[in-house]
Amino acid sequence: MEQFYTESEHLLQFIAQSPTCFHVIKNVEEQLTQNGFLSQKEHQSWQLERGKSYYVTRNSSSLIAFRIPEQGEQGFQLISSHTDSPCFKVKESPELDADKKYTKLNVERYGGMLMAPWFDRPLSVAGRVMVWDKDEIREVLVNIDRDLLMIPNLAIHMNRKVNEGYTYNAQVDLCPVFGDETAKDSFLDLIASQAGAEREQICGMDLFLYNRQKGTFWGNKEEFIASPRLDDLQCLYGSLQGFLEADKPQNISVFCAFDNEETGSVSRQGAGSTFLSDTLSRINTALGGSWESYQRMLAGSFMISADNAHAVHPNHQEMADPANRPQMNHGIVIKYNADQKYTTDAVSTAVFRRLCECADVPYQTYANRSDMAGGSTLGNISNTQVSLRCVDIGLAQLAMHSPYEMAGTKDVLYLKQVSRTFYESGIRMSDGGIRIDHK
Ligand code: ZN
Repeated sequence: MEQFYTESEHLLQFIAQSPTCFHVIKNVEEQLTQNGFLSQKEHQSWQLERGKSYYVTRNSSSLIAFRIPEQGEQGFQLISSHTDSPCFKVKESPELDADKKYTKLNVERYGGMLMAPWFDRPLSVAGRVMVWDKDEIREVLVNIDRDLLMIPNLAIHMNRKVNEGYTYNAQVDLCPVFGDETAKDSFLDLIASQAGAEREQICGMDLFLYNRQKGTFWGNKEEFIASPRLDDLQCLYGSLQGFLEADKPQNISVFCAFDNEETGSVSRQGAGSTFLSDTLSRINTALGGSWESYQRMLAGSFMISADNAHAVHPNHQEMADPANRPQMNHGIVIKYNADQKYTTDAVSTAVFRRLCECADVPYQTYANRSDMAGGSTLGNISNTQVSLRCVDIGLAQLAMHSPYEMAGTKDVLYLKQVSRTFYESGIRMSDGGIRIDHK
């Protein structure tokens, strides 16, 4: 049990240090650098060497890392997850006056969140600003690391029917209080000082609200964890640890972390962008490959799209499919959808089940109720840009898209173990089917 707690403890620390997608990428870069990965820039020429490991970022919010074997690869083996979570973004002209008694921040929704849990809890602001410095515009990450903001509920006395259901209006109900009337005109000064700059130097910002409550273990035997952003940092962190620990890849190992999944992946750096196809084709070219060898490589590749899944809800068991009912701490959830919102098919599920068995990791299955539409994720969107065999998986959780989500204490270690097995195994197309060479 000890190792399960240790891995989840590390996960909760990683999440606490990663309030926005930009901080996620900075922290992933740090771990990659410590493990000998070399940075490549998209705007520079790539000189790649066999046996070495590299990474590239786009928009400072998406990242692709890869490890090249000494010889003999027949494809890419990828795991994808996402760096973003539903939250609120600070708008330009960020301050609003309220009755000359309060200064509020003007925010808009990012992604589809549960709104109610954002009320009555300490929040703060983090993200990036662009700083005009001599002849250069520099990007600086900021995090106001203290309890800064609150969104107060309306008292029950002023809305007696609120417990019968309430429709939240993001512009009316969700703007957080930043201070009293004396806070007027000081938000950008606060951000500038955090960035080590003068207010006049701040020429652009991507700032988001985040929940200040740290992650915790809970339940009778502390069998559960709760934390902000478990979707999808639990999958991102678990697959990253497996990627870093894996030894001697047989194919080109690829770790992908994409931004903007929560808004449909359609951006310059999302899973629906050219980032993945650009990167894979550049790797092939830098290793001396041809157009034809690239097509062969893609046909020999396999991707795991890792994004969290819904556990059966303790108070709403009727919302789950009658037969496919994930439980926290019971291993990796393989997701199925006939309309291909999830990419899993007979081929990819067979490969993934085999990997779980090799790793001695339990797995379970998820499907939506047939009368309910489910969500979408990375795999099918990524496949519109670069066509790869793919399986959709995740870890079972509750309260998805709340600013404080719940999951199982054991599951991140399970994901790390199966990720490591995946990256160390050689998945190869054969005349009769698919071979998995497991050492
Ligand atoms: Zn997700």
